[in-house]
Amino acid sequence: MGDMKMNTVGRPSAPDFDVEATSFHTLLGGRGLLQSEKLIFEWDDYHRTGVDFADIAIDTSDLDGLVRGDDLNLPGLTEPECVRHYVRLSQKNHAIDLALYPLGSCTMKHNPRLNEKMARIAGLGDIHPLQPVSTVQGALALMDSLAHWLKTLTGMPAVALSPKAGAHGELCGLLTIKAAHEARGQGHRRTVLVPTSAHGTNPATAAFVGYTVKEVAQTADGRVDVADLASKLGSDVAAIMVTNPNTCGLFERDILEISRLTHEAGAYFYCDGANFNAIVGRVRPGDLGVDAMHINLHKTFSTPHGGGGPGAGPVVLSAALAPFAPRPWVVSAGDGFVIEEHGEADSAANFGRMCAFHGQMGMYIRALTYMLSHGADGLKKVAEDAVLNANYIKASLSDLMSVPFPDGPCMHEALFDDSWLEGTGVTTLDFAKAMIDEGFHPMTMYFPLVVHGAMLIEPTETESRAEMDRFIAVLRALAGAARNGDVARFKGAPYLAPAKRLDETRAARQPRLIFS
Ligand SMILES: *Cc1c(COP(=O)(O)O)cnc(C)c1O
Repeated sequence: MGDMKMNTVGRPSAPDFDVEATSFHTLLGGRGLLQSEKLIFEWDDYHRTGVDFADIAIDTSDLDGLVRGDDLNLPGLTEPECVRHYVRLSQKNHAIDLALYPLGSCTMKHNPRLNEKMARIAGLGDIHPLQPVSTVQGALALMDSLAHWLKTLTGMPAVALSPKAGAHGELCGLLTIKAAHEARGQGHRRTVLVPTSAHGTNPATAAFVGYTVKEVAQTADGRVDVADLASKLGSDVAAIMVTNPNTCGLFERDILEISRLTHEAGAYFYCDGANFNAIVGRVRPGDLGVDAMHINLHKTFSTPHGGGGPGAGPVVLSAALAPFAPRPWVVSAGDGFVIEEHGEADSAANFGRMCAFHGQMGMYIRALTYMLSHGADGLKKVAEDAVLNANYIKASLSDLMSVPFPDGPCMHEALFDDSWLEGTGVTTLDFAKAMIDEGFHPMTMYFPLVVHGAMLIEPTETESRAEMDRFIAVLRALAGAARNGDVARFKGAPYLAPAKRLDETRAARQPRLIFS
C-alpha cells in the first residue's frame, strides 16, 4: 500500500490498494505480533488444569446413583494458556477502548475509569444478593439513589430497576402494560402499534408477549405519520411503541399529539428510550406523556457494553402503570432500606419479577457514578455535545454521501443512504467492510430498514474533534475511491482483519462452533 496522499483540501485521498500484497500467508496463521488462536474447545488436552486439587473419595452422597462418573471434559489449559487465550481473542475484536465505535443507535461511548474504580469497591463489588439485608444497606441506598435520579431525569414517578437490557426492559414495560389493562377490564386489547423505523426488538417484544403487531407508516421527513397512527388507534390497541429521538436520528415533532391520541384511545405509550443520550438533561419523557420507557444504562450512562457484556435496562413508569410494576422494590423503612420481594395482598396486580435477584448491581454503580460525576450541567452538556458531534459528521460528509432526510439538523446520529453508491458497484456492506481495513469499526448498516442501504453513524459526545476528523478523512477518501471505480478494494474487504469476508447468512443458519 502506498502512502496517504493529501488532496487539495488537506485531507487524505485513498492510497492505491494492492490486493496481492494483502494475501501473504504466515507459517502458523499469525500476523505481525498477533497469534492465531484456536477455540477453547479445540484444545485437545482435557486433563491439565491451572490448579491442582487432591482427589476426594466420596463414599456416600445424597444423589445416590446420580453422581457423575465420567470426566467433565472441560478444556484443559494452564493459567498462562487460559489468560493468553482470552487476551488473544480480545485482540481479534473491536472495543471502545481501541477506537471510535460509530454504531448508530448503540451509543458506544467511553466508560470513564472512575466508574470501574467505584464498581470495584469491596463493599459493593464483593457482596452477594443472598446476604442479610442488614449487611448491604449501602448497596440498597445506592439503588435507591439511582432510582431517584432516573425518575428525576425522566420526570416519571416510578422505576423498575431489574431488567437486564433494553430488550428485557421492553418486555418488562409491555408485561406491566398488559397487567394494567387486565386489572382494568381491558384485557381484550391485543394490538401493539409500532412505526416502520422501529428497532427490531420492539415488534419482537410485542409478539413475544402475545400481541399482534401493526405497523405505523412514516412521513417523507422521517417521522411517525400521525394520520396513519390515528386511523389505527382503536379499542383493540394496548400500546404504541415509539422511539424518540427515532432511529432516523430525528426528534418526533408531533410527540405530544401522538401521546394525546394514544391516551384518548385508552392505550399506553411505550417509549423506546435507547436514544435518551440525545435529550438527557434537556427533555423529560414524562412531560411528553410517556407511560413506560426503558433506559439503557449501558448506552446513555456509559456502562460498558458490546461483545455481549452485561447491560441494564431499568424501566421508568407513569403513575397509571406504577402499581403494576414487577418486584423487587427497594423501600426506605425508617432507619434503613428493605427489599420488598413478595406482593402484598393489595398489590396482587403486579406480574411477578423479571429476574432471580435484583438486577445488574455493577451497572447500577457505574451509572450512578457517571451521573454524579457529571452533575445536572454535565449531563445536559452530554446531550448537547452528542448532537453537535453528529451534526459535524453529517455536515462533513453530506457533499459526498447522500442524506435521506436533509432538512434541519439531526439529533445524536447522522443517517446516510446508499443512493450515492448507485452505479459504483460498491454496496453499503462493501463500504463498511473497507472501513475495517482502515482501522475503523463500521457504522450501523441497513438499519433503520425504512432507508435503503442505511448507514447510521453515532459518534457520541466522547469523541474529540481530532478523532472525528480522522474518521471523516478516511470516509471521504473511501467515498472518493468508490466513486472513482476502485471496486477491488471494497469487494474482498476486509483484507487485513483476522476474519475476512464472511458468509454471514450461512454463519447464522449453520453455525459451526468447533472445527472437527
Ligand atoms: C440498543 C437498542 C435496543 C435494545 O437494547 P439492548 O440493551 O441491546 O437489548 C432497543 N431499541 C433501540 C432503538 C436500541 O438502540
